[in-house]
Amino acid sequence: MTDIRNNWTREEISGIYNMPVLDLIYRSATVHRQFHDAQEVQVCTLLSVKTGGCPEDCAYCPQAARYHTDVKVHKLLDVEEVLQKAREAKDSGSTRFCMGAAWREVRDNRDFDKVIEMVKGVNGMGLEVCCTLGMLTHEQAEKLKAAGLYAYNHNLDTSEEFYNDIISTRTYEDRLETLGNVRKAKISVCSGGIIGMGEKESDRIGMLLTLATLPEHPESVPVNALVPVEGTPLEDQPRVSVWEMIRMIATARIIMPKAMIRLSAGRVRMSLEEQALCFLAGANSIFAGDKLLTTPNPAAIQDQEMFQLLQLKPRKAYKDREDLILNTLS
Ligand code: SF4
Repeated sequence: MTDIRNNWTREEISGIYNMPVLDLIYRSATVHRQFHDAQEVQVCTLLSVKTGGCPEDCAYCPQAARYHTDVKVHKLLDVEEVLQKAREAKDSGSTRFCMGAAWREVRDNRDFDKVIEMVKGVNGMGLEVCCTLGMLTHEQAEKLKAAGLYAYNHNLDTSEEFYNDIISTRTYEDRLETLGNVRKAKISVCSGGIIGMGEKESDRIGMLLTLATLPEHPESVPVNALVPVEGTPLEDQPRVSVWEMIRMIATARIIMPKAMIRLSAGRVRMSLEEQALCFLAGANSIFAGDKLLTTPNPAAIQDQEMFQLLQLKPRKAYKDREDLILNTLS
């Protein structure tokens, strides 16, 4: 059985990432089968509950106020509207519902109170409820936890070395601090990144190294391919090849065997065969719905056909927690 390790070195991760690709897939598929049911793929829905007008300058993001993009700005949605979307997501097979707000950080105000109500409502539906709201203090994390928040997403985006080329309005250290606050509140951590932003291979390895050497691995690691949006500084970035996505997914699977590896943005440009390779390499989650926050995503019917063809089954909500309880009892 592969060990869970937090002492990976850059050389080891680089060695894995650069293996002959078919050997890499074989190894990651083997690890995947040791830790997960390889036929299970979790379907998640990501809803933008507050869109655009963000003061940050993330170079990939159409929601940054300083870039001129087609994003339709809207203030925080009403609680009932969000809960209705969550019901629809559940009815169409999602077991995790993530709410994203284009904020620099959470502020202790009425909007946060509304988010707390949203979390309570979605949790009450039996969905794994996740939020991505920007930076978070430990006290705010505790409040979200008390409301029933299951997971918090805060991506590292890229390596520490390349980070300043992408974002200047907050530091890598800020990101790690938020992840620490989430962990301290015993909320499940979701953190990953984006490839195709002009980073070097060493930056991809650097990001994976940071994630895999945290005191505890994130339970969830989204792997995104940049979807360049007109009006953002990265609008002309060339598309990453599917082999680069596969190398990221497979390496993440091998070094963080228990994590859910989420095949996230960029899936809309992948063929069914390419997505199948990503699942073989260890991805075990996708996002459903025709939008991923503000960028396009495959239609639900295409995903249903893919599940049928590949004989995949949707993963239940809170499975990790159930496994944990079973392990504790046995
Ligand atoms: S990624 Fe998030 S923090 Fe960065 S500009 Fe977009 S909405 Fe703001």
